[in-house]
Amino acid sequence: MAGVVLENLSRVYSGGVLAVNGVTLTVQDREFLVLVGPSGSGKTTTLRMIAGLEEVSSGKIAIGTRAVNDVPPKDRDIAMVFQNYALYPHMSVYKNLAFGLELREKTNGFGWLWRWALPTERRARLATRRFAIAERVHQAARVLGIEELLERYPRQLSGGERQRVALGRAIVRNPAVFLFDEPLSNLDAKLRVEMRRELKQLHQRLQTTIVYVTHDQVEALTLGDRIVVMNEGTIQQVGRPIEVYDWPSNRFVAGFIGTPAMNFIPGELISQRAGCEFRRADWLVPLAGRQIEPRVVQAMTVQSTTASRPSRAAVLGVRPEDVSIEKSSDNRSGTLQAVVSLVDMLGDSTVATLEVDDRSTQHQSETLYVLSKMEPRSDLRLGDRVSVQVNAQRVHLFDPETGESWMRKPVAN
Ligand code: ADP
Ligand code: MG
Repeated sequence: MAGVVLENLSRVYSGGVLAVNGVTLTVQDREFLVLVGPSGSGKTTTLRMIAGLEEVSSGKIAIGTRAVNDVPPKDRDIAMVFQNYALYPHMSVYKNLAFGLELREKTNGFGWLWRWALPTERRARLATRRFAIAERVHQAARVLGIEELLERYPRQLSGGERQRVALGRAIVRNPAVFLFDEPLSNLDAKLRVEMRRELKQLHQRLQTTIVYVTHDQVEALTLGDRIVVMNEGTIQQVGRPIEVYDWPSNRFVAGFIGTPAMNFIPGELISQRAGCEFRRADWLVPLAGRQIEPRVVQAMTVQSTTASRPSRAAVLGVRPEDVSIEKSSDNRSGTLQAVVSLVDMLGDSTVATLEVDDRSTQHQSETLYVLSKMEPRSDLRLGDRVSVQVNAQRVHLFDPETGESWMRKPVAN
């Protein structure tokens, strides 16, 4: 059992690609930690550096209390499972599981032959060892529920069974840390959900540290004790799934985690006596009671001679499930008016794409679309006119330039 500590870890590939840029992270002992981010964000490179398969350009790696920068992969006490788990096609499942363990035994290339030349006492030791391997293989097979498959060959297995064998190969080695690189990507959607549950149960049974890489945010949210969101080689946020979902630290995280993605609505933040409000044309979202970064509010200035209140440009973030709509025939002022431009039936919900109709305002340059996630059986039609409401208690605010979140999490008391 061991945690993993990464200290200012970087990897520059030849050609100057900065794949991983100063990653500092502590994986707790027995934690299921998920690295999630878009393709090319440096997840695999980070994992391969932990495994010792990739050169470290700068920074430190420790597994448990031991610095491993100079320790070869086979001595790091880790096991890695890849997306393309290649099983040996000519070996039975049993052999596939036992192979890695037997390999460690062999001292030359003569296989079985040389053993008969050994003294009896060494032969006995080897037999004991073989028995121990058999026991570990059967134990791993039991954990994964593939005991009845041990005599089969990979071609006689389904995709899910093959993936279980690949997991088994890691389990028999009984490592301190498991490293997974998108192990479920090759499975179909239904099987992926099933294997996700099994992985979670497996983690509970094995009580061991897992670092798991995926580009799939649903997988990250469902599997991780904590998730680490990466982009362009850097860590964007680390936290429990619900923390990252509810309190994204910037616009990248807010847009990456959650489906459909969060809506971003440009407008301005205005300081009022009773608190701040967000405004777009004549639509207002009251933010009294929400905790906005004080330095942002303090730095607000009176923007023009006609305005009486300090304000600044801001981006409102709101998740589709926090957007509701009401059919409206008249153009009521003070509301956000929109036309339904798409209705997606998802079975358990309906997602409507709304084309905001405020082109008479200063934001006329590009059409704004807002997504709303609603009850499944709505009678909404394309072209319907609606007014849009947002749950002001659950909206986010972002800096239009840096993308940084301006909303603070209330301190629990
Ligand atoms: P992820 O796993 O998040 O998709 P990777 O760690 O594989 O990302 O890659 C991070 C970045 O490093 C990408 O821009 C990728 O193109 C680059 N990269 C990965 N491997 C190499 C390599 N062997 N040589 C040069 N660049 C690489
Ligand atoms: Mg990758």
